[in-house]
Amino acid sequence: MEFIDLKAQYHASRELINERIQTVLDHGQYIMGPEVGELETRLAHYTGARHCITVASGTEALVIALMALGIGPGDEVITTPFTFIATAEAIVLLGAKPVFADIDAATCNIDPSLIEALVTPRTRAIMPVSLFGQPADMEAINAIASRHGLAVVEDAAQSFGATYHGKKSCNLSTIGCTSFFPSKPLGCYGDGGAIFTSDDELAQAMREIRVHGQSRRYVHTRIGVGGRMDTLQCAIVLAKLERFEWELHQRAKLAARYDALLSGRIGRVGRGAERTSVYAQYTVVVAERERLQAHLHAAEIPTAVHYPVPVHRQPAYAHLSDPDCCPVAVEMSASVMSLPMGPYLSAASADRVALTLLDAAGVPLPGSGELAYSTC
Ligand SMILES: *Cc1c(COP(=O)(O)O)cnc(C)c1O
Repeated sequence: MEFIDLKAQYHASRELINERIQTVLDHGQYIMGPEVGELETRLAHYTGARHCITVASGTEALVIALMALGIGPGDEVITTPFTFIATAEAIVLLGAKPVFADIDAATCNIDPSLIEALVTPRTRAIMPVSLFGQPADMEAINAIASRHGLAVVEDAAQSFGATYHGKKSCNLSTIGCTSFFPSKPLGCYGDGGAIFTSDDELAQAMREIRVHGQSRRYVHTRIGVGGRMDTLQCAIVLAKLERFEWELHQRAKLAARYDALLSGRIGRVGRGAERTSVYAQYTVVVAERERLQAHLHAAEIPTAVHYPVPVHRQPAYAHLSDPDCCPVAVEMSASVMSLPMGPYLSAASADRVALTLLDAAGVPLPGSGELAYSTC
């Protein structure tokens, strides 16, 4: 069993992907070819944001977003410590300071009730992460931001396709950033990412920053980066978009299957109200994680831990804050475990994962009636 089965996904879209790649090889415009604009138009339309700017990676998306907002030395950005390192890394790379707000134990997303107390005259932005595929509580976060004149940058690297109050992730705040890293819900076959905004000026700034701050050929209006997404990767995402809605549906069905078998028996990361998840990860919360992982591993079931050490306790970041500032993040880091998930995982495999986990945890197995629960 694969943790995320990218081969099965390729197999399902093989002809379309190969065709799209061949088209790029034939026209030869490897950088900023027609597929780049085509993908940006498609994704902007999908999210409802006015602008989409494809970039070299999710990390680059975050850096370019913060650069466009003019964030730099002396500035503070409030974010979560329970995330992939890139979120805080982008802030630090620009010379600004990440200020960590603890997470909500139910969802593992930033706890909005802790944000306002961290706002200082130096605060410029709030950077929530829509972790494991489910949007953070953006309405509460946006309300705080508007009271204090702050920008909100959603790190939506794991949540492309998810909704919040009916609106798409990436289009829930000033700027939304996503990643097309191969294992993300919408992945390419290398590095890639995209930035979304409905602010025309920010969009223009981010388009320029993406190509070395260039406003016209060899006219460098601002400091930029080499941050383009290449045409081949855009072509691959375009091909994979054709099955994306179906894939999200499969992910939701599989998550419901896990829910039905584990609910009331094993702790899980919960879902907030008025939002959908794309289940970048299906994550349980357990005691004795190492023992359970070993048991599952022996049954050839891969698991993963996102994330074993919160950012504020990472060696390179520890000097930035009090090690005890975010106890919930520390607690969750010690007890979260992600299970195999993906649109090509069968219902039978999901059952085997859940039943093996229940067995390992010493929880009575569900009766056969529950196992007959509708299959994917
Ligand atoms: C994957 C990820 C990123 C970085 O994306 P890359 O495309 O790998 O650079 C940033 N933030 C979060 C929360 C992620 O999961």
